[in-house]
Amino acid sequence: MPLIGLTGGIGSGKTAVSDQLGKLGAGIIDTDVIAHQITAANGPAIEPIQKHFGPDYIDANGALDRAKMRTLVFANPDAKQALEAITHPLIRQEAIKQAFQEAKGGAPYLVFVVPLLLESGTWIDLIDRLVVVDCPVETQISRVMQRNNLSRAEVEKILQSQASREDRLAQADFVIKNQGSLDQLIEEVNQLNQKILKI
Ligand code: ATP
Repeated sequence: MPLIGLTGGIGSGKTAVSDQLGKLGAGIIDTDVIAHQITAANGPAIEPIQKHFGPDYIDANGALDRAKMRTLVFANPDAKQALEAITHPLIRQEAIKQAFQEAKGGAPYLVFVVPLLLESGTWIDLIDRLVVVDCPVETQISRVMQRNNLSRAEVEKILQSQASREDRLAQADFVIKNQGSLDQLIEEVNQLNQKILKI
C-alpha cells in the first residue's frame, strides 16, 4: 500500500487537495487535525502541557488555549521546543493508529498531510512518494490574509519560518499546481489519484 506524504506552504491548498483525495477513497491522516484532537479537552496532550506550562494555558473548557500558547511559542524558542517535545510523539502515535484504521477499512493508499514535512525531517523516511501543493507566494499571502484576517507582515513572517517554494518543489514526486479555480484543482487531484493508484 503506497504511503503518500502531502505538504505545501501555508495557504497552498493542502486541505482542499486532501479533502478531494478523501472523497476518491484515499485514507487521509492529517497531522493538523490530529494536533487539534490531542489538545482538545481530555486529549492526551492536555495533562503534560498543564504540568509543564501551568494551568494558564488551558481554557475554561479544558482545551489548550491556542491563542495564548501561540503568543508564547512565537516569542520563546525554548517554549516552542518544550511544546513540540510533548506534542510530536503524541501526533505520531495517533497518526499510526489512524493509518491502521484506514488500512483496515480498505483504503487503497494512505495520505499523510504534514504541513512541515520537509522542515521537521522525521516523516520523509516513512513515505514512498511526496506530493507538493504549489502556488505563487503572492497567492498564498492573499489567501491567508483573507482566511485568517492577518496583515501581510504577519503572513510573511510565517512564510519565512517555512521551507522555500523552490526547496519544496525540488523534493516533490508529484506537484499539484493550485493557482487556478477550485474546479481546476479538483481535476488535477483526480489525475493525481489515478497516478497514485498505478504505483
Ligand atoms: P494551511 O497550511 O494554512 O492549513 P492549506 O494548505 O491547508 O492551509 P487550504 O486551507 O486548503 O490550504 O486553502 C487555504 C485557503 O484558500 C482556504 O480558505 C481555501 O478555501 C482557499 N483556496 C484554496 N485553493 C483555492 C483555489 N484554487 N481557489 C480559491 N480559493 C482557494
